Amino acid sequence: MGFLDRLANGLGTLLGVLVDTTVQVIAGIKRGYEAYKRQGGATGANVVDDLTRKKDRLRSVNDEIMHLRNQRMSSGSLNDRARRRWDDLRAERDQLLSELNQGKEVRAAEKIIESENVIDKVEIDLETTHVLQYNAFADTLGKTCRICGRPMKLQWKRDLSVAEPKDFYWGCTGWYIQQGDKRVCTHTEKLQRNDYGLMTDTTAPEFSVTAEEFGIILTDKGTEDVIDTRLRDLKSDLAKRHRGVELATCPVHGENMVLRRKQNATGLLDAYFLACPYWQPNNAGCTFIEKLKSGSQLAALLKSETGRGVL
Ligand SMILES: [Zn+2]
Ligand SMILES: [Zn+2]
Repeated sequence: MGFLDRLANGLGTLLGVLVDTTVQVIAGIKRGYEAYKRQGGATGANVVDDLTRKKDRLRSVNDEIMHLRNQRMSSGSLNDRARRRWDDLRAERDQLLSELNQGKEVRAAEKIIESENVIDKVEIDLETTHVLQYNAFADTLGKTCRICGRPMKLQWKRDLSVAEPKDFYWGCTGWYIQQGDKRVCTHTEKLQRNDYGLMTDTTAPEFSVTAEEFGIILTDKGTEDVIDTRLRDLKSDLAKRHRGVELATCPVHGENMVLRRKQNATGLLDAYFLACPYWQPNNAGCTFIEKLKSGSQLAALLKSETGRGVL
């Protein structure tokens, strides 16, 4: 974890804060942020520029790693020089990923400080699981696997139409990385009691209804069509600008995920998924994808990219 003493995400939400008060937690974030600034850390427009520059460099590094990987796959091995280059690139990528994470924490802290007046605590129970799902859309900053150190993601059983609090868990993103026929890390953690409390901007209209009501609203055909059209527009807009989704990145490559739509979807909640830019059909590239199978994820996506959720 960087200077944030809490788990947070780019939506400006704090996680794992059930037993704390909003005032205490936000005061702690401000202290950390001020101390970071005093030490000369980049903030505001500077950190945005910094993130843009580092993302550009990360893309070149990833492209070159992919190029060497393809070379190795076609010729069976790499010469010494290429192997050294590969090691250097991997080390540079690790360094960039950790610097990018720090920058994302700064942005999250700024978002929290800006919106402190509308941030409230939400206790996750049967009626508010959609708030947790909404926040699971964005990368959680600061949650790493105690076995392998990779980032962990909030997960739940995706086939449920309405998830219950007990259906959520932390899953290591090493699960998505395959080595031979094995997954690199399959570590999961149960949510602790404290994980069932969030501090977030509660003015989103999606949060004024219960999880069940929200699920019902989304089964309306007219609503479904409107959301689908907005997502199609967003998808083509992002594609035109060669951009990924701001708040979700591939844990391996660190690049923003690309919004994609399935060819033969059976409905809105089966249609969209996020994929790493190095993803290819039939497991040919990076295997990191995330299915967007809940209205909450779609709401978080639309809210963060267009300023308006689904209601
Ligand atoms: Zn792990
Ligand atoms: Zn990837």
